[in-house]
Amino acid sequence: MKNKKDLIEKIKKERTLVLIKPDGVERGLVGSIISRFERAGLRIVGLGIVKPSKKLIDKHYPKTKEWIENLGNNLLRTAEEFQIEIDLKKDYKVNNTYELGLKIRNWLIDFMSSGPIVKIALEGVHAVKIVRKLVGKTVPFLAEPGTIRGDYSIDSPILANLEERPIKNLIHASGSPEEAEYEIKLWFKEDELIE
Ligand code: ATP
Ligand code: MG
Repeated sequence: MKNKKDLIEKIKKERTLVLIKPDGVERGLVGSIISRFERAGLRIVGLGIVKPSKKLIDKHYPKTKEWIENLGNNLLRTAEEFQIEIDLKKDYKVNNTYELGLKIRNWLIDFMSSGPIVKIALEGVHAVKIVRKLVGKTVPFLAEPGTIRGDYSIDSPILANLEERPIKNLIHASGSPEEAEYEIKLWFKEDELIE
């Protein structure tokens, strides 16, 4: 075991980033959403409202081939589930799943920079996993009741994809402690965070 005191400190101070997306702010859900995290015992160590630039959102979402292809595959999987035939070239003017993923990524950039969003840095034991659990699954109709997305969102991925926009699911939450560290640095200056 490394220094026990340091380990305890590290565990207690895990951090994660939450963004209340433009749909959440527009619907007046900021207070309700923040109270869910406070209620669970997470500490707010950074908080603000911003209208982000496209450049900031571009930096926020990963650029790896894997992440982008996964977005494209999400769309194809949903289409298969709803038995909608997709012709990538004709319907989306792209050649492969990577290009399709890039297209969705661009919808996300446009949507996330379309209005104010609330940025929240949260701290606590297992903050990343706890927040993901409170937020619920990406697709609103799969998110369990009791989760934020399950209780407050209703959008359909197939409708979103037909309308060429991202799924409106109210929240972004970091996927891992490494992602959280990168994202908190991106969204907050050091002196905006509470120790
Ligand atoms: P977030 O990163 O926002 O917390 P997530 O980790 O649950 O969400 P990701 O797979 O990282 O989901 O996708 C990022 C966002 O992209 C989703 O929150 C959603 O708004 C949007 N999105 C994902 N897949 C699709 C899709 N097939 N069509 C439209 N939008 C999508
Ligand atoms: Mg994600």
